[in-house]
Amino acid sequence: MPLALGLSYVDLDFLGRQNTIATAVISAPGSIALVDPGPSTCIESLELGLQSQGLRLEDVTAIFLTHIHLDHAGATGTIVRRQPRIQVFVHERGASHLSDPTKLIESAARFFGPSNMERFWGDIAPVPTERLCLLRGGEHLDAGGRSFEVIFTPGHASHHVTYFDRSSGIAFVGDTAGIRISGGHVLPPTPPPDIDVDLWLDSIGQIGALRPRTIFLTHFGPVEEVQPHLQTVAANLRWMARVVRESLSVDASDEARSRDFGDRLRREILQRTDPTLVPAYEPTAPLESLWFGLARYWRKKEV
Ligand SMILES: [Zn+2]
Repeated sequence: MPLALGLSYVDLDFLGRQNTIATAVISAPGSIALVDPGPSTCIESLELGLQSQGLRLEDVTAIFLTHIHLDHAGATGTIVRRQPRIQVFVHERGASHLSDPTKLIESAARFFGPSNMERFWGDIAPVPTERLCLLRGGEHLDAGGRSFEVIFTPGHASHHVTYFDRSSGIAFVGDTAGIRISGGHVLPPTPPPDIDVDLWLDSIGQIGALRPRTIFLTHFGPVEEVQPHLQTVAANLRWMARVVRESLSVDASDEARSRDFGDRLRREILQRTDPTLVPAYEPTAPLESLWFGLARYWRKKEV
């Protein structure tokens, strides 16, 4: 699906469901970059999507990762195995988990459930260190005849970055501006272990200050009403943080607290979303589990 000249995206049909994970494609003759290639289970859809635009996975020259979570970056090692000259751009704080994904896999198994790992993510291959290009924010990267500014946008993950193409006005914001399926509820995904609400709100502000014409969400696709969307994601993040904080003073187990939170969030999503689309939120952000990321944030703050 086209965004601008040489900028497009592919629906990865994650778990056979549309509008769940998108990979952005930056292309010009001799240069193809993917922003967040998604998990290995979607490589076939990625290839088909590229083919429909006359592009081949074999011709990809760079992968820009917004962060290393498996729904964004799981296929990176597998793609690099097939095409060893690809350069992988990632924030320096996330890089070691790409070259050795052991901890990443452990943490994903806790979050998504060990029995879902194969079906959701498939192969999670390490990325050879020499293919990694480390970012800190402030860099300019050339791809597809365009120049992308790298902005450090932590909060959802401690190593999250945004890629901004000033010429088209499109900012590829990963998960920093939340999940929004087909104009529905704006959900900031708050999985453990990195959630930092203050940093995240700052990052949302930084994205707003770029004055982008469009923000591109991994989940899912372009959003044109940028400033209202950013206000909503910030408000919803504050609301979720408050609800979790209040739940910590209720006499209940964490399991019960997270279940209540999940139910409340589901009702909230339903109010603003076509009911048939609500399930598209859950595979990449299991609602109950989002409680744990915010609870960890508050508990760390109290120490
Ligand atoms: Zn995600």
